[in-house]
Amino acid sequence: MKAEDLKGDGCTVFAPATVANIGCGFDILGFALKNPGDRLSLKISRTEGIRIETRSAFDTIPAEPEKNTAGVAVQAMLDEMQAEFGVNLLIEKGLPAGSGLGSSAASAVSAVYALNRLLPAPYDNHALVQFALEGEKIASAGQYHADNVAPCLFGGIVLARSAQPPDIIELPVPRNLFCVIIHPHVEIKTAVSRRKLPEQIPLKTAVRQWGNIAGMISAFYRNDLHLLARSLEDSIAEPVRSGQIPHYDEIKQAALRSGAIGCNISGSGPSVFALTTGIENARRICASMEKILNENETRYDAFVSVINPNGAEIISVD
Ligand code: ADP
Repeated sequence: MKAEDLKGDGCTVFAPATVANIGCGFDILGFALKNPGDRLSLKISRTEGIRIETRSAFDTIPAEPEKNTAGVAVQAMLDEMQAEFGVNLLIEKGLPAGSGLGSSAASAVSAVYALNRLLPAPYDNHALVQFALEGEKIASAGQYHADNVAPCLFGGIVLARSAQPPDIIELPVPRNLFCVIIHPHVEIKTAVSRRKLPEQIPLKTAVRQWGNIAGMISAFYRNDLHLLARSLEDSIAEPVRSGQIPHYDEIKQAALRSGAIGCNISGSGPSVFALTTGIENARRICASMEKILNENETRYDAFVSVINPNGAEIISVD
């Protein structure tokens, strides 16, 4: 494909943070937030190849295309299209890397979503997941997992029944569902965190986990928040990962005492999420979680967000 065949010279995209796993759904469940997120501007260039400029208030992410999730994702798409042009990317990070909020996935998604907007025959989201996954893979020790990329693209709550090949199922979102995020200022790299997980799971533990996953999916379809509360537990990753998160048990207890439906680790952490209904409940639960970190003089960010039904969005087209 040539640059003249495209529907514009560039565009700007917002791609939101995501909460992967939702407790029991390790690697297969995730949902999208409204904020924070990444903003990415893509400009078509007559010169082949990818050039990346990054702006981040938090940390330095690689600008080399082959080390940046956005670069690898968009390269996969350019290869598939046999593009005879290149792209310049400006990535403005709205969320820190290694936060457990899908920072690497947001960049990968925003890049492929932006290029897709300019195509005469755009790919659907199911096809775009595969390109974004190629980017996300470099931040995940070479493994495919779609539980950030898929909700970031589709929005709402998503089941990634399989990551390779991707089999993505959009799930119903319970009415008025809000999420509280507490991000303590420690960095946990997904790639490192994944290596600490057990390779073998005792049958009893597995049975408990798949009961909870089935319960959670049923809860979404039935809008049954009591069932969601009973199912929002994790017998596999949480016991291993919670120790790396400052004051995790106290934060979780504070959220549950304040009426949260459930509270668990977002992705591989250190962010912690709690679910509830309505903005007032969310703000009260957020304050109770913040109190723990304030008392312990631990730095953090806090976010309250409704579940984002849309996922990535076009901000402007040039
Ligand atoms: P998160 O869950 O917040 O995405 P990860 O550990 O999965 O955290 O990803 C962060 C890692 O990915 C870091 O090592 C970072 O340097 C690398 N990375 C590469 N490209 C990007 C990008 N565009 N945005 C964020 N992180 C990136």
